[in-house]
Amino acid sequence: MKTISHYIDGKPYAGNSERTQPVFNPATGQVGSQVTLGTPQDIDTAVAAAKREFPAWSKMPALRRARILDKFKNILWERMDEMAEAITLEHGKTFDDAKGEVTRGLEVVEYATAAPTLLKGDFSENVGSGVDSYNARQALGVVAGITPFNFPAMVPMWMFPVALACGNTFILKPSERDPSASLLMAQWLSEAGLPDGVFNVVQGDKEVVDAILAHPDVKAISFVGSTPIAKYIYITGITNGKRVQALGGAKNHAIIMPDADMDMAANAIMGAAYGSAGERCMAISVIVPVGEGTGDKIVAALKPKVEALQVGPGLDSESEMGPLVTKQHQEKVLSYIDAGEAEGANLVVDGRGFKQTKQGYEDGYYVGGTLLDNVTSDMSVYRDEIFGPVLSVVRKDTFADAVDLIHGHEYANGTSIFTRDGEAARNFAQNIEVGMVGINVPIPVPMAFHSFGGWKASIFGDHAMHGAEGVRFYTRIKTTTMRWPKTLDAEFKMPTLG
Ligand code: NAD
Repeated sequence: MKTISHYIDGKPYAGNSERTQPVFNPATGQVGSQVTLGTPQDIDTAVAAAKREFPAWSKMPALRRARILDKFKNILWERMDEMAEAITLEHGKTFDDAKGEVTRGLEVVEYATAAPTLLKGDFSENVGSGVDSYNARQALGVVAGITPFNFPAMVPMWMFPVALACGNTFILKPSERDPSASLLMAQWLSEAGLPDGVFNVVQGDKEVVDAILAHPDVKAISFVGSTPIAKYIYITGITNGKRVQALGGAKNHAIIMPDADMDMAANAIMGAAYGSAGERCMAISVIVPVGEGTGDKIVAALKPKVEALQVGPGLDSESEMGPLVTKQHQEKVLSYIDAGEAEGANLVVDGRGFKQTKQGYEDGYYVGGTLLDNVTSDMSVYRDEIFGPVLSVVRKDTFADAVDLIHGHEYANGTSIFTRDGEAARNFAQNIEVGMVGINVPIPVPMAFHSFGGWKASIFGDHAMHGAEGVRFYTRIKTTTMRWPKTLDAEFKMPTLG
């Protein structure tokens, strides 16, 4: 069986771990390969290579670093299909969706190719008489990224292109459920001319994550995953003196105002709720129709579309939605639908009975699209992140009630509003306590040159990913003040301009 292992110091690295874990093809339920679960020694080896390379890489002119990233970007364009297929085979999402993910990651590489501009400092002449000041943003050292299963290419690319552009060296710890994309990225970076040791991949689980958290030479950690682990990474990381940005889970609400075009809103919600089988941190998992009649209208518009969803293997071009990532996750999602029914929600469309009949795919981890109406805020289907193709409808009488509902939830990653009313939309955008807001845009994922990050329990740490926030996270500011006087008198009071 194929074994997926590490990539350290510019080449594949087997390590000597005895532990492995099967990697499944969720479309068939069959084991496709196995992944090596690394050890603290593997982290030591990777960090040593990255530390050795840091001085040369951080001092290399930013334009040279940018040119390597530019070559990597071109390879990504050329081999997009290869990467997308690797993602679909381990994650389950449709091939087109996987290409979308690679493209959104590639856009961060594109952003990072502006490294010389991104790192330009400020200079002030004559901050005092004959005194000038300038600041520079300098790299931190060896930094690490720990990433979730749901975007095995895009989420690492939220991190390492900016980290490398700023002059850091990098250790990636990908999800053990879909590890192949990480090795493609590592090989292609080497082909693009990245010096050995600047980018390393260590596969594994908690054991290697804990080794990263404890390693004194790892200066910063970027994490994306579920909230309990994000909190653990943040608290342990900062206790150990590291800079940490840790993005967590989500429960994203879309408000449907009475004046919205119901068919347009329903089409937008379909992709946002059921795309990637709901396994997106920006998936819409709750809609909040406002006012009498709005709930009936939007549910009527959604019901036939959910029933008609094409659920199938990701490599079949007719599939609109693929399977869930693992059998355990499929069972968890099914149990949430059971709980929703038991707690009194109205099952408008029930995905539990979905059977895949395509030959060879009968044992895949499929769940049909599910629509639950009359959900209330005390139900577990509302409170918890299900991360599956399950959309809840929570009806509210007024816009203010809908906003209160959103503010009552622990997560605050993304949200959206569907309306033709500019005043309501503006009020929503300005006052809602959520990090990413869409107006008639169901999944408002910011572009690479803006920054991605939620609020409240959806993030721990101060900086969002990529864009200017990414550059700030991966650099520290140094301010230099200089003068070239012929003579100086001793001065004992605090220097001022007088
Ligand atoms: P996860 O938290 O289970 O795993 C994320 C990473 O942490 C993986 O690399 C995993 O190996 C590691 N990990 C898991 N358990 C650990 C432990 N006990 N100790 C140390 N490390 C551990 O998340 P997942 O299931 O892979 O991904 C889905 C979650 O990620 C969802 O909650 C989703 O909302 C979230 N997510 C958030 C964003 C965002 O931007 N906020 C983006 C994508 C995914």
